[in-house]
Amino acid sequence: MTYFLGAIITLLAICIGGFLSRAAYAIPRGEAGELWDPKCPFCGTSLGAVSLIPLVSFFLHRGKCPHCKEKISPRTLLSEIVFGAAALLLFIRYGFCLRFFSYLAVCALLLVLSLIDLDIREVPHSVLFGVLFFGVLYFALSFFSLPKDSLSWWEHLAGAFTISLPLFALMMFTGGGIGGGDVKLMFCIGLLLGYKLVIVAFLFGIVAAALTALFLVFRFGKSGRFLLPLVPFLSLGFLFAVTFGKYIENLLFFVSL
Ligand SMILES: [Zn+2]
Repeated sequence: MTYFLGAIITLLAICIGGFLSRAAYAIPRGEAGELWDPKCPFCGTSLGAVSLIPLVSFFLHRGKCPHCKEKISPRTLLSEIVFGAAALLLFIRYGFCLRFFSYLAVCALLLVLSLIDLDIREVPHSVLFGVLFFGVLYFALSFFSLPKDSLSWWEHLAGAFTISLPLFALMMFTGGGIGGGDVKLMFCIGLLLGYKLVIVAFLFGIVAAALTALFLVFRFGKSGRFLLPLVPFLSLGFLFAVTFGKYIENLLFFVSL
C-alpha cells in the first residue's frame, strides 16, 4: 500500500512539476495562456497539446520547435524529474502528514523561484510570500507545540536571522554576488526550519554552488565574469535539509557544543 501511494504521489508530482515550469515562465511575463498552451519562445507558434504530456513531450518534439526548428530548453522535463524526486524523498522521510504537504508546497514555490532566478535573475515577492506563509504558520504552531515534533518558537525566530543577517551584512559590504532576494529567501526558510536546519540548508547550497562555479570555470574558462544565481542552490539545500538534515544537524551540533 505504501509503495502504491508513493508511486501515485511521484506520478502526480511529475505532472505538477511540468505545470510549475510553465508557471515560472508565465508569472513574470503575465501570460496565463502559457499554463495550458505553451508557445515556442523563438517563433511564438503554439507547441500544441503534445507539449503538456509529462516526461515524453520533450522527446516527441525531438528537443526542437516543430515550426522554426530552434532548440527547446529541457527545463520542463528537468522540473518534472526534480519535483517527482522531491515528492518521493519527502514521502519516504515523513509519510502522509501535514509536514509532508507543507514541505512539498514549499518545494513547489522554490522550484518556481529557482526557474525565475535562472531565467531573469529576479526573486518575485508574490512567490516569496508563499514561502513566508509557511514560515509564519510553523512559527505560530510552535506556541501550541504543534506538530508534535515541532521546535520551540525561539528556534524558529533565531532561524530567521541565523543566515539572513550575516548574508545581509555581506551584501552591504561586497555590493554584488548576493542579492536581496537571496537574503529574503533565507529569512523565510530560516523561520520555517529553525536555526539548526537552516545552517545545514545554507552550507549544502553554498558548497553545491561553489562546486558548480568551479566546474564552470574549468569547463568554459575564466573569460567573462558570470554571476551564478543562488536561489536554485539554496532550494536544493532546503530539500537536503528537510530530508537528510536531522542526521547532519546532530553531527554538526554535537561537534560544536
Ligand atoms: Zn519556434
